[in-house]
Amino acid sequence: MNLQTNFTCRLCGDIDLKPFYSLGQRGQFKYFRCRNCTLVNYDLSGGLDQSQYIDLTDPTDNRAQKNYDKDASWRFINKQIPKPGKFLDVGCGTGRLLYLAQNAGWDTYGLELSAEAAKTAINRLKVPVIIGDFLTIEAEPNKYDLIALRHVLEHLVDPILALQKINFRLKTNGYALFEMPNIDALDMRLKRMLANTGIHQKQFPKNYLPGHCNEFCRASFQFLLEKTGFKLIHWETYSLKPVVNFLYRHLHIGNKARALVTKTNSLTAQ
Ligand SMILES: [Zn+2]
Repeated sequence: MNLQTNFTCRLCGDIDLKPFYSLGQRGQFKYFRCRNCTLVNYDLSGGLDQSQYIDLTDPTDNRAQKNYDKDASWRFINKQIPKPGKFLDVGCGTGRLLYLAQNAGWDTYGLELSAEAAKTAINRLKVPVIIGDFLTIEAEPNKYDLIALRHVLEHLVDPILALQKINFRLKTNGYALFEMPNIDALDMRLKRMLANTGIHQKQFPKNYLPGHCNEFCRASFQFLLEKTGFKLIHWETYSLKPVVNFLYRHLHIGNKARALVTKTNSLTAQ
């Protein structure tokens, strides 16, 4: 492949980006890996589909399958964080995570782009949920003990700005929980290998557009943390297949990552 990018890495600003893989019927959506910080940058000139997947599952329904992934996040929080405090869930949906945290004594707040999902959370849980984009709405400094972003970070064009916003809202020594795809996962490597060698191309619908702007692995995520006043406490990977999860937690090859970080210093610029 001989491709030149007309952009620099969105994490470190380096120009040394190498073609990594492509998506779409004609492979027209290109992803480039930065040789310096390892972030995988999508060439945004291909277009983005940021339409929301609205899920209106009852947050109090313990049997709803769509709540299970939030339950796993909650078990992780409960194990890692010693005592309850103020918790903001960014992209809270109908509020399953807020519901579980509320039951355990946390003071809970939500932020959600979908008005419909936010209203379900407000009506069912009586929690304050702001409808809007956390990158642009006004925020109070040093308010929260915990902020969660589950499957949000990869959709944001500017990861540094996102972490700066989290830093601003968190108390010093406060925690942030991230969940996102792990670009270095074993099955992702295999899929890329099959696609790049032409052995197996994934089929894409005609009107397909990518939704992820940036893809992280542990190294690029850690690079982001160091730039924005955070320290990594715990990194694990998982998949939606519970049988192999035990293995993935230890080998870090699952296709989804879960990371707990702590704010070590406040950034002056906001
Ligand atoms: Zn970079």
